[in-house]
Amino acid sequence: MNNFRADLHCHSTCSDGTKSPGELVQLAVNTGLSGLAITDHDSIVSYELALPAAEQLGLKLLTGAEFSATHMGSNIHILAYAFSPKDPYIVNFCAKHTLRREKRNREIIAKLSERKIYINYDELNNSQEGVPSNKKTIGRPHIGMQLLHKGYVSTLQEAFSKYIGEGKPCYANVDPFSVEETLETIHQANGIAIIAHPHLINNIKIFRQLLDLNFDGLEGYYAKFPPQEQKRWVKIAENKRWLITGGSDYHGDIKPHIPLGCSWVGEEIFNLLKNKFQENTKS
Ligand code: AMP
Ligand code: FE
Ligand code: FE
Ligand code: ZN
Repeated sequence: MNNFRADLHCHSTCSDGTKSPGELVQLAVNTGLSGLAITDHDSIVSYELALPAAEQLGLKLLTGAEFSATHMGSNIHILAYAFSPKDPYIVNFCAKHTLRREKRNREIIAKLSERKIYINYDELNNSQEGVPSNKKTIGRPHIGMQLLHKGYVSTLQEAFSKYIGEGKPCYANVDPFSVEETLETIHQANGIAIIAHPHLINNIKIFRQLLDLNFDGLEGYYAKFPPQEQKRWVKIAENKRWLITGGSDYHGDIKPHIPLGCSWVGEEIFNLLKNKFQENTKS
């Protein structure tokens, strides 16, 4: 048995992680990982920012993203892999997500201000580590961190549970994309579409409906899933003849209890995705 391990789910400063793409590559190598896919929310720019460090340090890097979609009013996260970083369908889709998020974030800020909680939109985009500000995905964690920074809440968790979590008074969802159109875009790019962290979908009816859509797999190994939990998802995926992927969902300092590499896939799954990636990027 070889000791190849690849983490296929983590976030950089291109979305709501606290490490830059280059720092993530370095951390992956220090952790003993052989492969990595950075899956920023609704963004693919981390791949090209991470590539120089990955080539220098001998880490195998795959394209990735975690797309936000809505199904029957619930947020569903869809992991995409192996597309070309220049694929026009994906690039265009990310641009549309940026516009959607800008409207959504402004609406959340307006709802907060009705409660005399004042967040300045421009403060959310304090871009760092060489990530161009127009390429950074701004999400609720950035709003939550500002609430924390300004003393409106005492933990990030409190920001979500009091104000900006799904169904809370300052939550907003504007012009969301459906799961179906997200799957269509990923497949137009000849990418792989995976149901992220399936245990977070607590409406069984929604989960059953997702099982009938044309996903390519589900995330059976996630963060610190106990073995029983893994078995459950592996069984469901095997029944569907779906791929089983895995990753930590590392976000850096904002979720300090989750280390990079705490869930991973072996060489067989990684190579399957890598072969698809090579097919999509050969000229
Ligand atoms: P957004 O995509 O902007 O709607 O933000 C969703 C992200 O917020 C998720 O991917 C998580 O990283 C984070 N998040 C969601 N719920 C919570 C929570 N209760 N506490 C901390 N972070 C959360
Ligand atoms: Fe996140
Ligand atoms: Fe997620
Ligand atoms: Zn994630």
